[in-house]
Amino acid sequence: MRIVVASGKGGTGKTTVAVNMALSVGNVQLIDCDVEEPNCHLFLDAELEKVRDVNLRVPRFDMDVCTRCGICSEACHFNAIAVVKGELLFFPELCHACGLCPLVCPEGAIGEGERKIGRIDRGETGSIEFYRGVLDVGEPMATPVIRELKAHLSGRDAILDAPPGASCPVIESLQGSDYCILVTEPTPFGAYDLSIAVDLARRLGIPFGVVINRDGIGDACVDEYCEREGIDIIMRIPNDARIARLYSEGIPFVNELRERKEDFARVFDRIRKEVVG
Ligand code: SF4
Ligand code: SF4
Repeated sequence: MRIVVASGKGGTGKTTVAVNMALSVGNVQLIDCDVEEPNCHLFLDAELEKVRDVNLRVPRFDMDVCTRCGICSEACHFNAIAVVKGELLFFPELCHACGLCPLVCPEGAIGEGERKIGRIDRGETGSIEFYRGVLDVGEPMATPVIRELKAHLSGRDAILDAPPGASCPVIESLQGSDYCILVTEPTPFGAYDLSIAVDLARRLGIPFGVVINRDGIGDACVDEYCEREGIDIIMRIPNDARIARLYSEGIPFVNELRERKEDFARVFDRIRKEVVG
């Protein structure tokens, strides 16, 4: 079973839910797909080792053969190539490695090169196998790193911490998942961002439920939204000073609050029943 923990925006407690659930149920893979700002490892007692670099296959131009005809530039949907005043310009950050330009070049002037955009790290803590992707600073494309990260899913139960938002990296994280936990806070902002995440999960046809983090702050707008939309609230994490203190110290709260560990295990079992039947 593959569960993705997502939210419409950052800072709602996605990582808290992913890490604490993994530690509560054990014997799972925990995958940090928030490759621009991975932070699950901050709560885990795990030595991390690099598994591999993530490289994009990008074009390499043979300027002795190129006639500057501009055909590759016209074909590229991402404006990564331009021919200006008889010079060919290549913008690697814009290249999506789609592989089209070598196919259209009439001179055979485009070969294949590689560009590193990130890396995959691995670690273990207890019965949890942990992977994280790290996007290099300044690189705009998170999706290939997440795709590479997901290649390490082994078939064991897995919990994926998705990036915030509702754009391509989130969709890549959600693809192929059995269930999505949407984490929000009980405020008007939380309700609005939740509605975006709900829309995405529905479009992708992935079953989902809501976890309200810091329950007790704000107002009832998330509850009212979920009731209107017929959405299950599968867990509430109270606005508890002990949880806030443990978080600030980098300690997963289920390590010290036994009742919370049981709550996560119950929710995991409930999701399994819904997914597997
Ligand atoms: S299509 Fe080939 S020959 Fe034409 S500009 Fe591009 S690389 Fe040069
Ligand atoms: S590989 Fe695709 S995205 Fe990259 S430069 Fe060529 S056509 Fe453009």
